[in-house]
Amino acid sequence: MKITETIAAIASSAGHSGIGIIRISGEEAIEVADRIFKAYKKGKMLKDVESHTAHFGYIMDGEKVLDEVLVLVLKGPHSYTGEDTVEIDCHGGVLILKKVLELVIKNGARTAEPGEFTKRAFLNGKLDLSQAEAVMDLINSQNDFALNSSISQLRGNVSEAVRQIRSDILYHLAKIESALDDPEHISLDGYKGQITKMLDENTDKIKRLIDTFDNGRRMKEGIKTVILGKPNAGKSSLLNLMIGEERAIVTDIEGTTRDTLEETINLGELSLKIIDTAGIRFAEDKVEQIGIQKAKETAKDADLILFVMDGSKQIDENDKEILRLIQDRKAVILINKMDLQRVTLEEDVRKLSNRDIILFSAKQGYGVKLLEEKIREMFYSGEITYNNQVYITNVRHKESLDHAYESLLQVRKSVEDNMPEDFYSIDLMSAYSELGKILGESVEEDLVNEIFSKFCMGK
Ligand code: GDP
Repeated sequence: MKITETIAAIASSAGHSGIGIIRISGEEAIEVADRIFKAYKKGKMLKDVESHTAHFGYIMDGEKVLDEVLVLVLKGPHSYTGEDTVEIDCHGGVLILKKVLELVIKNGARTAEPGEFTKRAFLNGKLDLSQAEAVMDLINSQNDFALNSSISQLRGNVSEAVRQIRSDILYHLAKIESALDDPEHISLDGYKGQITKMLDENTDKIKRLIDTFDNGRRMKEGIKTVILGKPNAGKSSLLNLMIGEERAIVTDIEGTTRDTLEETINLGELSLKIIDTAGIRFAEDKVEQIGIQKAKETAKDADLILFVMDGSKQIDENDKEILRLIQDRKAVILINKMDLQRVTLEEDVRKLSNRDIILFSAKQGYGVKLLEEKIREMFYSGEITYNNQVYITNVRHKESLDHAYESLLQVRKSVEDNMPEDFYSIDLMSAYSELGKILGESVEEDLVNEIFSKFCMGK
């Protein structure tokens, strides 16, 4: 498909800021810009300038100066979209940006759809689909993990891992094909061992990628966390402490279904989505019982449970029930109020539970660092270095990996069952094209449109 239409959009944020950027991309981008731009240097036209240069001047609406601007000219293919691109750095006001954009549209461009610039980058081969999706993730990143993993994906780490597997598969597809075509010269003697080795290696690789998904996604979106404990144990204090952390970013989202508040807390590079904070906040108003049923209910959806115990009191039946409830869950036990006379000791709790225990004081802020480390241990698989550890955080990628995995297992089975080699090809091919979907090869146009429509304007 040849793309000729020239598109334009406001590429910077919609609010007031120092500068605002209008981006124009397409065959006529430079021409359109020339129609409205008057260079400070008399007679200079953008069509004559070198690529990747900046030019000072004015945006003219007829005889009227609209804004004083800096214009960047980026000629294709060396631009984000791969097409001729002009970026106009205007002053940052919403109104001025709107007016300049209108003028650009009047002079031959059309308004870009959300994500259309990145879509063109994809269609022009500047990015593969997983990288394009990484652009969106990057913009939407809420914590350092999300940021780092999307940068890693943008740099092509997911694509690279997938390409390696594909190239192995392709080799074998070709080998089988040519042996069947030309059995006299290409023999498949001893081939079974060879393909089995390839299958084992690659199912293993795919499995490892799939295994990063659950934690990867949780880390990216925030770990759904519930704080349990009896009234007065210190649940609100813990929440406030975490919110009050200087580095914490807090957002209040009104729950849509139940009247709950959800708070996202950034704890170091990870974020916790604390669920049912309303339940925590108003617990004091309730009668002296937490209601194990309610605890069970809220804990059901949680990725992580923080159980706050009052270390200055004896363990009672309620505590024991919660300890049983969290036995086979991802949970951390905080023995709170360490600054007071200690009644409940670590050993006492240890006898009842094998979950991680942290001695804590919500009042003094003691134990937070340790808590952060514990959580990281639980959700990261080992030491994380974003450059070589690839995390799958996109459900579309995960599904393709699942399918490819199944197909390779099927090949493995055909080998074991002594099926003829041409049998392998069907499933090898299907694994190959499933993996290709991650990169955007062999995906249907509808899917491409759907993916890019989730982008914001101007990207
Ligand atoms: P919740 O009912 O579980 O939410 O408990 P709160 O957070 O409201 O705490 C109950 C009481 O215990 C409050 O008076 C807190 O100030 C106090 N408290 C909480 N954590 C600590 C702690 O670590 N040390 C001390 N000394 N008091 C604490």
